Amino acid sequence: MSLRVLLVEDDRELRTTLRDALAIEGYEVLTAASLSEGLALLAHATRPPSSTLASTSDAPAVDLVILDLGLPDGDGETLLATLRRRHALPVLVVSARHGDGQKIRLLDAGADDYLVKPFSVGELLARMRVALRHRGTRVDPAVTHYVSGGLDIDLAAHRVTLNGAPCHLTPTEFKLLARLVRSAGQVVTHRQLLVDVWGAEYCDHTHYLRLYMGQLRAKLEADPGEPQRLLTEPGVGYRLVEGED
Ligand code: CA
Repeated sequence: MSLRVLLVEDDRELRTTLRDALAIEGYEVLTAASLSEGLALLAHATRPPSSTLASTSDAPAVDLVILDLGLPDGDGETLLATLRRRHALPVLVVSARHGDGQKIRLLDAGADDYLVKPFSVGELLARMRVALRHRGTRVDPAVTHYVSGGLDIDLAAHRVTLNGAPCHLTPTEFKLLARLVRSAGQVVTHRQLLVDVWGAEYCDHTHYLRLYMGQLRAKLEADPGEPQRLLTEPGVGYRLVEGED
């Protein structure tokens, strides 16, 4: 089950950049462009039925919040206060505002960390892992580069090459392959793949998987009928063979 992040940021470009970067790392990302949208998502978002993280029905539907302060309908601090009253969720504040006073006030108000814009995505991801670890959720950096027998997959660069030649994948094919790369060497169940690639409401659509795995094999296997990379684990799921170190 991927961890779910709520990203509250009104700068559309930054929101898109962060959403894509987090998705590549394997996070499920909900985005909000205002305070009210953020609050509505927190109030109404529900966990997919397969979730193992939400042990009680009133558990928050997200695992971490990334919160901008300057929002069109108010200050992110309002949301921080609401979050602190209701949940023990880690909250990372991202803001263009400098100043020690501000930072100390926010940390006192319950923010787990504070990043001043501009920050690197790598730093944000590392701080997210720390904040989650402090709450007892272990997160290993995701595998985003995979190499094996002439196949080279760079998730961050969105690039797949086979024996040096670029391989063109559809967005869904790429998403499915990326999910397998993040668990390379391990079996990923049908249900997990369907939930992570298509969404919880598609968890019974195993024919989607058969179709898209067929397409991926046609593009990535020397003999799609005798796959050597994208293996079927009968009755369980699929496994991408472990990459080379
Ligand atoms: Ca802003």
